[in-house]
Amino acid sequence: MDAAEFRTAAVQLIDFITDYQENIRSRPVSPSVRPGYLRHLVPASAPQHAETWDQLMPDIERVIMPGMLHWHSPQFHAYFAGATSYPSILADMLTDALGCMGISWASAPVLTELEVLVMDWLGQMLQLPDEFLFSSGKGGGGNIQGSACESTLITMLAARARAITRLRSERPELSEADISGRLVGLTSDQAHSSVARAGLLAGLRVRPVRSNTRNALTGEAVEAAVAEELAAGNIPFFVAATLGTTASCAFDHLRNIGAVCARRALWLHIDAAYAGPAFICPEFRPLLDGVELADSFNMNPHKFMLTAHDCSTLWVRRATDLTDVFHVDAKYLATARNSMPSFRHWAIQLSRRFRALKLWFVIRLYGVEGIRSYIRQQVSLAKEFERLVRSDRRFEVAAPAVLGLVCFRLRDKEFGNSLTDALLSRVNAARRVHMIPSMLRGGTQYVIRFVVCSRYTELRDVQLAWSEVQRHADQLLAQPE
Ligand code: PLP
Repeated sequence: MDAAEFRTAAVQLIDFITDYQENIRSRPVSPSVRPGYLRHLVPASAPQHAETWDQLMPDIERVIMPGMLHWHSPQFHAYFAGATSYPSILADMLTDALGCMGISWASAPVLTELEVLVMDWLGQMLQLPDEFLFSSGKGGGGNIQGSACESTLITMLAARARAITRLRSERPELSEADISGRLVGLTSDQAHSSVARAGLLAGLRVRPVRSNTRNALTGEAVEAAVAEELAAGNIPFFVAATLGTTASCAFDHLRNIGAVCARRALWLHIDAAYAGPAFICPEFRPLLDGVELADSFNMNPHKFMLTAHDCSTLWVRRATDLTDVFHVDAKYLATARNSMPSFRHWAIQLSRRFRALKLWFVIRLYGVEGIRSYIRQQVSLAKEFERLVRSDRRFEVAAPAVLGLVCFRLRDKEFGNSLTDALLSRVNAARRVHMIPSMLRGGTQYVIRFVVCSRYTELRDVQLAWSEVQRHADQLLAQPE
């Protein structure tokens, strides 16, 4: 492809992208294909000779679109949002074109410097404690990770190193292996699976602690679990608290948990993967109170802040907690020391994409107020859905809309779980809206999660989703199988 062909193709693709986004409501939200569908549509081996753009372009509709679950459809209400927006798409195009690699400051000075800048902007927008901002000069700062999973893993590893250093200074006779085998991380039984997985990857035990009846982890439960572990000769070292759980958007009791962590010298990590961006709105900021007790805080602009995957922002109170652990240098990486951070010591990746660009575009082209009004609109639509659920006595709200998620179920003492499961199957099979379930109350209560995900979702879409739920409930309750 030469420059002239690129220019033509790019214009056509931009038209396609724009039409796709603007007309997305005309496509069924979910696909009807079966596993393996693609094999029948494309050759089994790669072309030996270059094809033309004119040959490829029609295959976007023919091959790709049939296999799409449309995450940006206004009728997509599953998982959490996988954000995108025009500013973010533009920035990703430019990132790909610049094609630079953030290996060190010297390998792409602007990549590091813009990341430092936007992480401070975002930290200010969230009113994070000063210590988390580079500009405070207090030793903390933020950087962009690929995912919340990576953020949990690397903070857990940093916490492990800190605990080992502390314990060995107190009791030099202990070896690293002695300590490591007794370390235990704590999290809620409602925490995202990535916390357990971080333990698996780090070779560390993670104990799920029972959440309360509102699906939140309390300080008392953490304290009791810590005491039990200590009594058994184990060493609690890390707590992952969740603000906005995946199952029901519950909020762990951050202040109380933070107080336990401070008293017991435990690293407190906050996973606010979904909910975090909402704290930019003053009315939701109190949900973050207690962050001043945390060692690390993570949230995903790629969920609730209009920024395409991948963009997961992680702040730490003391950058050296990461850089001391992940610092490995080879001759080919060595650069003269300067005042800017070397983000390769903050993350798993060595080569970093220029992800700060999309945050910079999104924040500038929406403005803080624009981001706030987007979040408020999503929340108000979820609250409207909650109101509709409450208006029908056959249903109950299992978790109200604090942000963009409502959990609801059919109210039936005996068959509530199986009926609600059957209802969701029918709703999704009709392919007019798409939702997924979760289990609450220690895995005993089956609920349907309704999430406002798309920036195209309007009141009429919420009403459509509810009418679909009611229509299938009418049929199901008239004739349960
Ligand atoms: N933590 C929470 C609370 C989540 O809801 C999710 C995903 O939905 C994750 C972590 C994982 O996020 P990521 O895909 O960025 O690793």
